[in-house]
Amino acid sequence: MTEKKQVKNRILTGDRTTGKLHLGHYVGSLKKRVEMHYKYETFILLADVQALTTHFDKPQQIQKSVRQITEDYLAVGIDPEKATIFVQSHIPEIAELTIYFSMFVTVNSLRHNPTIKSEAAEHSYKDLYYGFLGYPVSQAADISFCKATLVPVGGDQVPHIEQTRKIVRRFNELYKPILIEPEAVVGKTPRLKGLDGKNKMSKSMANAIYLDSSRSEIFQKVQKAVTDPSRIRKDDPGHPQICPIFSYHKAFSEKTSNDILESCQSGKIGCVECKQLIANQIDFILEPMRERRQVYRSKPKLIDEIVLSGTQKAQSIAKETMKEVRDAMGINYF
Ligand code: ATP
Ligand code: MG
Repeated sequence: MTEKKQVKNRILTGDRTTGKLHLGHYVGSLKKRVEMHYKYETFILLADVQALTTHFDKPQQIQKSVRQITEDYLAVGIDPEKATIFVQSHIPEIAELTIYFSMFVTVNSLRHNPTIKSEAAEHSYKDLYYGFLGYPVSQAADISFCKATLVPVGGDQVPHIEQTRKIVRRFNELYKPILIEPEAVVGKTPRLKGLDGKNKMSKSMANAIYLDSSRSEIFQKVQKAVTDPSRIRKDDPGHPQICPIFSYHKAFSEKTSNDILESCQSGKIGCVECKQLIANQIDFILEPMRERRQVYRSKPKLIDEIVLSGTQKAQSIAKETMKEVRDAMGINYF
């Protein structure tokens, strides 16, 4: 009976709690997540332990982010009755499973993981922290403790899911086939550019428009954003392909982006007007989020209650899975 209990697809998704979420997260993961959580049983992980892999010296930032990110989820339209939002550090079984997995994962397979390599380069790490190198192992534990079948990810996360599948296969061969090999659901949206026009929009690059921005913050940031540097006068022909503002038109205003493309290339629309149009559109997208956010801000205890109840649900699932894991491994002496 227990082995057949799970028939429906179950999703595991989440974010590291390193700061509030921005428009990049919205187009890259949140929009899809809102759609999917109506269709599948969804677990959303507030990854505060994985936040420590790069932010172990910033515990206050992590603590603050747990509530901020939850508020972002609720603001974008996640229904806490439908999705289980929970805190990673409060599920010690995830840490336990990470340890068991780490016994049969080789250091080289982690070192050669392309995402680990590129993120280590991003942080200019000369040597790797043990926890940072082990990130894919702990991710395998996140996915396995709740027996998720689907993991929605950006292209950069595919190697991690591949590693999870290998770990699960190995566990199932070594002990007993009780864990589930998950499928990655790979998002197709390209990375949203930051306001600097150079990097992808990112919390750590000071180039982001956050989901909790006011109308005037949006306008100020968009106004200062980099555009095509070769365009000096309003009627100079522009190069929208290299302009972050045009990439926002494509991402947030699909219907009118072709007109913008033509008007920019033919010098019919200037950067000031083009920026105003997109600032308005971003404001239009964030407005319903502001309204929902207001509801939660007016009831300060509600967010904690939502996370606590989600965490309790995740804890009870974790206990069940870990009993099976310990039985499979013979760690059930008494
Ligand atoms: P940090 O600066 O802490 O690395 P970040 O803003 O780069 O934060 P991540 O936590 O690295 O965000 O990203 C988590 C996930 O959010 C990514 O795997 C991706 O799915 C999505 N995401 C983040 N930034 C973008 C972006 N600019 N465009 C599209 N998706 C994004
Ligand atoms: Mg990042």
